[in-house]
Amino acid sequence: MCYAIPGKVIEIKDKIARIEYFGEQKQAINEIDELCVGDYIYAQGGYVIKLIPKPEAESILATWKETFFDLQEVDLRLSKMDLEESGLDRKLTVILDKAAEGIQLKEQELLYLLNLKDPKELGLLYKFANFLRQKHLKNSCCVHGIIEFSNYCSQGCAYCGISTHNKDINRYRMTKEEIYQAADIAINKYGFQALVLQSGEDSHYLVDDLCEIVSTIKKRWPCLIFASFGEVGLDGIGKLYKAGARGLLMRFESSNPEVYSKLHPGRDIKSRLAHLEAAYKLGYLIITGGLVGLPGQTNEDLLNDILLTRRLKTEMYTFGPFLPHPMTPLADTPPPLTKDILKVLAVARLADPVNAKILVTTGFETLDPKARELGLMAGANSVMLNVTPEKFSKNYTIYPNRAHSSENIQSQIETTLTLLRSIGRAPTDLGVAL
Ligand code: SF4
Repeated sequence: MCYAIPGKVIEIKDKIARIEYFGEQKQAINEIDELCVGDYIYAQGGYVIKLIPKPEAESILATWKETFFDLQEVDLRLSKMDLEESGLDRKLTVILDKAAEGIQLKEQELLYLLNLKDPKELGLLYKFANFLRQKHLKNSCCVHGIIEFSNYCSQGCAYCGISTHNKDINRYRMTKEEIYQAADIAINKYGFQALVLQSGEDSHYLVDDLCEIVSTIKKRWPCLIFASFGEVGLDGIGKLYKAGARGLLMRFESSNPEVYSKLHPGRDIKSRLAHLEAAYKLGYLIITGGLVGLPGQTNEDLLNDILLTRRLKTEMYTFGPFLPHPMTPLADTPPPLTKDILKVLAVARLADPVNAKILVTTGFETLDPKARELGLMAGANSVMLNVTPEKFSKNYTIYPNRAHSSENIQSQIETTLTLLRSIGRAPTDLGVAL
């Protein structure tokens, strides 16, 4: 099983490797001293992750070659676009035409799209977002794994089922050895090249412990590691980078300071943004975004959330639904509708058409069992599979009835690959297009 297509190194200049696969060229940052032109590698998120022995790479490429171009054809057919459809609002077609020509849309135009209500117009928006995704990023789809190693958290975020509000939860912490074992299985048995390590803000693990976990995994099994441990301080961000973390998953949830402070008692959005900005400057790949459907949230807020995500030079946008948890202060707030999330994914694609990886979150899949396909056909191009051992993951209840919580890793992989194949996507994330 493999979630990346090997690439062949055709040039190395300073720390940048130029990589070729199936006629496409990408570039990625290289941190492997012994890398030579002619080597085969896996890259993820623009980083060279590891060398692959030539016979192994050639065998994987031969398997992919049979299907790769078929997948591209399916994707191209499904993402074809015709803006000449009749009966559409003139303003909408003018905006989409502009985006098709590569002109950056104005804030008012993006807001107009977020305000759309008519099902036919929404359908066109989703289709157009998919067209742009195909045009700029082809059929590649990121498949990352996530290990949730502790559901202890010292924070009282008003929407979160593992916050201090929830007194009726089985708390767990994985030991370092249990985390290594989960990483070993994800990387070596199931072939994941990129892993998110996530926990609540759990002071049981000091920053030095988190660094040890990151560096041990990196040393044993080369992979791309995203840290998601909450606010560990700017020093902590620096130490984790030195330990080998190259990605940071940290959502700001709402860019509206008033909404933010209501949701996060005792916290200031400035601190969160400082973490994200510092991380980007250090070289981290950023995964961030927000919640859709929060009480008091407006479409202007959602637009600002998308624009903030873009301003943070985000590698992967993550926008999921607010889902009420019965043990939190927002228990009685209704969740948003599927179309509310799809609109945000599609508008995010139009706001950042060329580079954005856009995730279909598990939260969205919990809201709507068809979310993964709907999201991928509305501009998204990334999914994350839960590779936490089942005995722990069932207690990571940030919201109730989490999708896939009773599915084992193998079954999640099979379902995902079947869906990706059916819509012409290849689970690749080789690097940055040239
Ligand atoms: S959202 Fe994060 S920081 Fe807030 S309570 Fe939940 S796990 Fe803790």
